[in-house]
Amino acid sequence: MEYFFTEQQQMVRGLARKIAEEQIVPVRAELDETEEFPWAIVKLLAEVDMFRVFIPEEYEGLGGGNVGLCLVIEELSRACCGVALTYAAVALGTLPILLYGNEEQKRKYLPEIASGARLTAFGLTESDAGSDAGSIQTTATRSGDSYVINGAKRFITNGGEAEIYTIIALTDKTRGPRGSSAFIVEKDTPGFTFGRKEKKMGIRCSATRELFFDDCKVPKANLLGKEGQGFIVTMKTLDSSRPGVASLSIGLAQGALEAAVDYARQRHQFGRPISANQAIQHMLANMAMELEAARALVYATARTIDSGARDFTEEGAMAKVFATDMAMKVTTDVVQIFGGVGYMRDYPAEKMMRDAKINQIYEGTNQVLRNEIALELLKRKAKRKG
Ligand SMILES: Cc1cc2nc3c(=O)[nH]c(=O)nc-3n(C[C@H](O)[C@H](O)[C@H](O)COP(=O)(O)OP(=O)(O)OC[C@H]3O[C@@H](n4cnc5c(N)ncnc54)[C@H](O)[C@@H]3O)c2cc1C
Repeated sequence: MEYFFTEQQQMVRGLARKIAEEQIVPVRAELDETEEFPWAIVKLLAEVDMFRVFIPEEYEGLGGGNVGLCLVIEELSRACCGVALTYAAVALGTLPILLYGNEEQKRKYLPEIASGARLTAFGLTESDAGSDAGSIQTTATRSGDSYVINGAKRFITNGGEAEIYTIIALTDKTRGPRGSSAFIVEKDTPGFTFGRKEKKMGIRCSATRELFFDDCKVPKANLLGKEGQGFIVTMKTLDSSRPGVASLSIGLAQGALEAAVDYARQRHQFGRPISANQAIQHMLANMAMELEAARALVYATARTIDSGARDFTEEGAMAKVFATDMAMKVTTDVVQIFGGVGYMRDYPAEKMMRDAKINQIYEGTNQVLRNEIALELLKRKAKRKG
């Protein structure tokens, strides 16, 4: 399918593909086994300016927007979803600064994120506030020219490895979600510590940790937007980052489909390749159709975001749900095509299936996002959009 990418987009995609094939594929099984954070690859991505892609040019980025970001994530995830998530989570952690940072905050943080010198993370989830993000309990209490943060966040991607955190905390407990605010917290701030790296089913090289805030004092200058805007910062951040989660799934499904086609051609049973069976051919055909439909939806959503559209909650949610459900199905079917060896760690299929699951869970579970899509539909009183 021709998606008419610009020269820059093709260049960025080509470079990400080269790194994925030459540097990530050879180490992905080892990273999965050891659960080691992929620092060597992160440094390489920084050297070839991959972290500049989603940062505007005026802050030392390449101005590649959401489309550029999605293309890089897709290519990295075709090789390893865990590595790709590490990159995608930097964009997630940066979005609150991009969307709500003032000029001083942007000048201070965006160039060093663009250079890859400092990774970022986004901290919203707490033990009693997952899908119900409005139930967060972490507080940020004003004290002179500072805010004092107390509480804990859990399941934070890049936690412990990142140096810049965008955190949502309550500045007014009486107002519920409307009393939340967003803050930048730097890693070395006294009172800010981390839990152990979580042991996960998939994306095992990605770091997931708890964040603890114990009288953690941050300057007032680190407030993003205004007090009380934490909920809107969260919603707008997730609207823009969900195409990235969809791209994690597209890359993953693409890699899995390619592996299945190769295997189906070379594996012989009953004196002929298993690809000669229509049952296998139809599985491959279904995978290819669903994958391309998801890809078209994701690129269209990313382009809508880059066009400057104000409201794309529905599009972002649809892209995320459709692509992540697709990848779960594709990777499960790929294991089936590999048969017994598909279940073994010596082959890439089982890792892809394990990696696919998380994309249906984070950044809004697919059930919760279906609720959101339905809500948007019903709000429109059955009027056609567009
Ligand atoms: C590996 C990993 C990385 C993560 N990274 C980050 C990160 O970087 N930053 C961050 O802030 N968070 C992160 N998260 C948290 C993630 O976004 C949450 O886990 C997710 O939103 C779900 O919340 P929960 O786990 O508390 O599940 P729950 O909210 O307890 O949901 C449990 C089940 O109930 C269903 N459910 C809940 N409410 C409804 C409803 N109203 N309608 C229908 N079904 C419902 C859910 O769909 C789910 O199936 C990460 C999580 C994981 C596992």
